[in-house]
Amino acid sequence: MNTVQSISNLRQIRNDLPSPVGLVPTMGYLHEGHLSLVQRARQECANVIVSIFVNPTQFGPHEDLDAYPRDIPRDFALLEKYGVDLVWVPELEQMYTPDFQTWVTVERAAQPLEGKMRPGHFRGVTTVVAKLFNSVLPDKAYFGQKDAQQVVVIRRMVKDLNFPIDIVVCPIIREPDGLAMSSRNGYLDHEERQAAQVLFRSLSAAMSAFENGNNDAGQLREIMTGTIMSEPLADLQYVSCADPDTLEELSGSISRALLSMAVVIGKTRLIDNFLIGD
Ligand code: AMP
Repeated sequence: MNTVQSISNLRQIRNDLPSPVGLVPTMGYLHEGHLSLVQRARQECANVIVSIFVNPTQFGPHEDLDAYPRDIPRDFALLEKYGVDLVWVPELEQMYTPDFQTWVTVERAAQPLEGKMRPGHFRGVTTVVAKLFNSVLPDKAYFGQKDAQQVVVIRRMVKDLNFPIDIVVCPIIREPDGLAMSSRNGYLDHEERQAAQVLFRSLSAAMSAFENGNNDAGQLREIMTGTIMSEPLADLQYVSCADPDTLEELSGSISRALLSMAVVIGKTRLIDNFLIGD
């Protein structure tokens, strides 16, 4: 497995790699969710490149950029084991030069939900992903459904800016009790970790109501809200029952939807979602 830092070294090695080349962008501190993306890329691509970059521009001023967990040696060992060809750990100074002033902004799709709670987050995400795409020039790029709005926003960017890249979305990998795997789960203490099950419970409650014939968007939101409110340690930021393609909030009867939520437990902000319907 090769590892590189500078964009020029990356490009040199990338140039000699036979296609298709798959890119898995990550912020590191890898878990089975990330590794499921790597496995999928391994199945579909002749060469797999993983980037590890804790992108400062997607963190708000009061968010956890400094505390964000990092363990590069462990990540390298895992990626080697999973048969990755090249790991790129971009240099901060090269990604954001002191006079950096060019941003990629997706408009409507980036506004609700996470965009509303985390102003500037998606501008950071789309800018860094565009830079990763321009540097690696992958044929395919792999993202997790865990970050459902990120998928919608990146698909929009790829269409709008004509990136010749196939976006592959992989299912959410969960702990045995349903909690979606996340690098941030390690922030939770024992009691908070128990309380964190409430996200999966509330999404499951709304999905079973839907499967039993309740297809009213407002009622599905109420079911999710009610379940979250029943957990004393959980602080609900939003619940949503939205169009999976546009992320517009739905009302009345629905045939398909993205159910999503953000919940703060202690100091840890967790997100989760289910896609329901056809
Ligand atoms: P991150 O390191 O958090 O930026 O995540 C890198 C990629 O892994 C993103 O595309 C995430 O959506 C994806 N990912 C994170 N957690 C999971 C999970 N539990 N299941 C599937 N994909 C995930």
